[in-house]
Amino acid sequence: MFDKILIANRGEIACRVAATARRMGIRTVAVYSDADRSALHLLACDEAVHIGDNAPKDSYLHWERILEAAKTTGAQAVHPGYGFLSENAAFAQACADAGLVFVGPTPASISAMGLKSHSKRLMERAGVPLVPGYHGADQDPVLLRAQAGRIGYPVLIKASAGGGGKGMRAVERAEDFDAALASCKREALNGFGDDAVLIEKYVQRPRHIEFQIFGDQHGNCVHLFERDCSVQRRHQKVLEESPAPGMTPELRERMGAAAVAAARAVHYVGAGTVEFIVEQRDDGAMAFFFMEMNTRLQVEHPVTEAVTGLDLVEWQLRVASGEPLPLAQHAITIDGHAIEARICAETPDNHFLPATGELAVLRWPPHAAFMRNTDGMALHDAAAVRIDSGVRQGDTITPHYDSMVAKLIVHGRDRAQALARLDAALAQTHIVGPGTNLQFLRHVVRSPSFSKAHLDTGLIPREQALLFGQEPVGLEIAAAAALAATLLREHDSEDADPFSRRDGWRAYGLAQRTIGFEFQGDPVRALVCYGHDGALQLQVGARVGALSFSRVGDAIDLQFAGQRHRVHVYLLGDTAHVFAPHGATRIRIVDLLAHSGDSQGEGGRLSAPMPGKLLSFAVRAGESVRKGQALAVIEAMKMEHSIASPSDGTVSELLYAPGDQVAEGAELLRLAS
Ligand code: ADP
Repeated sequence: MFDKILIANRGEIACRVAATARRMGIRTVAVYSDADRSALHLLACDEAVHIGDNAPKDSYLHWERILEAAKTTGAQAVHPGYGFLSENAAFAQACADAGLVFVGPTPASISAMGLKSHSKRLMERAGVPLVPGYHGADQDPVLLRAQAGRIGYPVLIKASAGGGGKGMRAVERAEDFDAALASCKREALNGFGDDAVLIEKYVQRPRHIEFQIFGDQHGNCVHLFERDCSVQRRHQKVLEESPAPGMTPELRERMGAAAVAAARAVHYVGAGTVEFIVEQRDDGAMAFFFMEMNTRLQVEHPVTEAVTGLDLVEWQLRVASGEPLPLAQHAITIDGHAIEARICAETPDNHFLPATGELAVLRWPPHAAFMRNTDGMALHDAAAVRIDSGVRQGDTITPHYDSMVAKLIVHGRDRAQALARLDAALAQTHIVGPGTNLQFLRHVVRSPSFSKAHLDTGLIPREQALLFGQEPVGLEIAAAAALAATLLREHDSEDADPFSRRDGWRAYGLAQRTIGFEFQGDPVRALVCYGHDGALQLQVGARVGALSFSRVGDAIDLQFAGQRHRVHVYLLGDTAHVFAPHGATRIRIVDLLAHSGDSQGEGGRLSAPMPGKLLSFAVRAGESVRKGQALAVIEAMKMEHSIASPSDGTVSELLYAPGDQVAEGAELLRLAS
């Protein structure tokens, strides 16, 4: 086994690889760019080498510097993680040339699977089922068009060198073929420097089911079951799970055998993934076809770890150091159900545009296990909730790298339990700063399609009415929570410093306070009334009722208008970020004393702080009054509220009579000073 490895990556995957290495007693070397100077992955490793500035080509893709870093630190192997150099055959070769072990397959295997059309020809020979299509070398447009006709529309044109969902065009009708081909070729040439394409039948309602495979240097090859990654947005995975719902032992047997055959066809060594597209026929049958093979560890590998209890990075390191696979096929078993959600800094309601910014609050589910930092967790007892993340509170999501904040992985005895745990864990994850897809993920998890496992790659468009533009927390709860948090904070600072109290109402014995909020861009006024017994009444939006609250750990137990909510509120600047069980929102507190009892008598006038009925005046015209003296009583919200004088003076005129209805802001009397 190696003594020391270099991790040629960043973020959560660098932390995750380091955690296993540390558990195995292998020292680790991190590399980092300028932007990552104080990134978490540096702490997860024993040493760190600066390799350049922020652009990936000047750092995480800069082989020479990475190889140099390995040499100067005495690392014996390089783990590439995923992305960056992980599927770069030339880099794998350069490692070998420098006397370093590349933790991954051979350069020849990477190249063989790198081009879609080439890998398809290999798979065809190995007897692996392919999507009906054309992947020949002849790229004559007339021939391609004829092939599309033979396959039957709709078809998919794919760039042979494509990846990451780029360079694909679905074509519904023959008339559209030529234009789609031309644009696909343009994109392929720009993106991949190669305009060769292949054509496939466009599978309807397809599922994406992939198999984790592992090979060693002794000719052994096994699979570690499947992952269903059908929930995608723009061909990128959102949720991944294992086992695939509806998978039968017989289908798993056939797909697993095909995956192993695919790997064997390229003498595969290390961790790899064979992706299949699965056609769901009306009679319930599922037909599977090879799509591609990823010659690296996948982002979603933790779901496989959760159901098998195995540490795939440990397997990678063992295989790379020449050991045989730790287990034979029959000894690998699957237990329970696991789901991974990718938490990203992005705005789902705005075409998933990536978001950046400081993670002002980053709170994980309290019982989560972490695959990072100093102590590698034991994977043998799959954790119910696992977080793989490369950031901590206070870190910034920058535009330089991808927008994934963390992966949240849950495990349960069955899918229903895993789903419930996922929803609960997403609710317990609080992020304030850049926008995230947390709420969107919760909507997907709760959607009928996902909860009933009606999976296919069209799930998100099909459920879009439920997934986008939903505000899960109403004004009333938001305002009540913001108010509770503010009053609790005032109460705290009151204990510390009695002079910093901002609740002027108490000083003068006044009983109400109007608070200005801004919610979803609209100004809102709320009225809080204080009963003699200290009870609070809140009127906001369409709701009026008693408000009470208390702290429970770091949460607030909120009762408003007969409903009880457990909320977390983060007060940052003038904004309250409210996390309620069904979702999160924010509300701005524009003015805490927007219209309070002690400041409304400007210029000797006194007006009603809320709509209500004038019950009585406590004074007559001509009477002199003292500041704080009760002047009138208004009934509103089923409570009586006394209006106190803002200053010393003389009542010059009463403007209403007892029994009158008065509007909010109505002037009740005139006061001369
Ligand atoms: P990339 O290498 O760019 O990721 P893939 O070939 O893996 O491209 O395909 C990405 C996604 O596109 C798949 O997960 C699936 O959702 C969809 N897809 C690919 N091939 C087909 C097909 N023949 N029919 C329907 N959808 C497809």
